[in-house]
Amino acid sequence: MVRQALALEETVCPLCRSADYRVAYRFDPYAVARCGVCGFYYLSPRLAEAAMLDIYREDDYFEGTENGYTSYVEQEKALRATFRRFLDNLRRRGLSGGSLLEVGCGYGYLLDEARRDFSPRVGTDFSAQAVAEARRVADRVYQGGLEQLPPDETYDCIVAINVIEHIYDPLPFVESLVAHLAPGGRVVIATPHMGSFWRRLMGRRWASFKLPEHVLYFDSPALARLMQAAGLARVQPLPYPHAFPLALVAAKLNLTLMGPFGRANCWLPQTMVAMYGFKRDG
Ligand SMILES: [Zn+2]
Repeated sequence: MVRQALALEETVCPLCRSADYRVAYRFDPYAVARCGVCGFYYLSPRLAEAAMLDIYREDDYFEGTENGYTSYVEQEKALRATFRRFLDNLRRRGLSGGSLLEVGCGYGYLLDEARRDFSPRVGTDFSAQAVAEARRVADRVYQGGLEQLPPDETYDCIVAINVIEHIYDPLPFVESLVAHLAPGGRVVIATPHMGSFWRRLMGRRWASFKLPEHVLYFDSPALARLMQAAGLARVQPLPYPHAFPLALVAAKLNLTLMGPFGRANCWLPQTMVAMYGFKRDG
């Protein structure tokens, strides 16, 4: 990507609108701020949203090559295993069945794995390349965001995985998810876990300080607070164990693993925080 003059902006707390903050982590020219009122972590200064959306529309977004192991396709096996376990967890709690919308569906691995649990399976994504791939396995895929959906189209289950941390104004976003719920419908949101042991251990080297894309950083209380404010009822946590290629985990620890051993999956707890909530009756 050609490096242009960065369009930076500062923001108040995206959850409570307070302007009171302290800098928690500095990543010049960006910084992760912590709200002085509600304790929420968010990026400020951050890249202006219009500039960020241009990056998401670039065809090579999913093939970003920070190091040799981060290709989205290389991680397919680990992602599919993660999504199968996620779907098991939904099924055990009676959250499966009916129609599914996945916002930010990427290449459609979750929509593909969800065949036995949901019908129809519908996705959205900003990347044309991702939409083309996801259309091979999903019933329907819209290119863009929620505004691409017909206003009266509703779903029994709406899932947003690794999406909310990219959203500049999260309350209207979750409210619009709720607006697309059928009666009895549920929203599931999963995002990197700012309250995790991993962030405390790794500090500013934490892998989910992904800049400039990640503008919001949730722990369980902050995610529950957002979902309740958006009108969801009975908000509760969902376990979300995440598998990673062992070679990727090893690379983070400056080890090299070759061959089939490196392609094995390594399950890490607590990398993600996930919550679900229900549409209010009436
Ligand atoms: Zn706040």
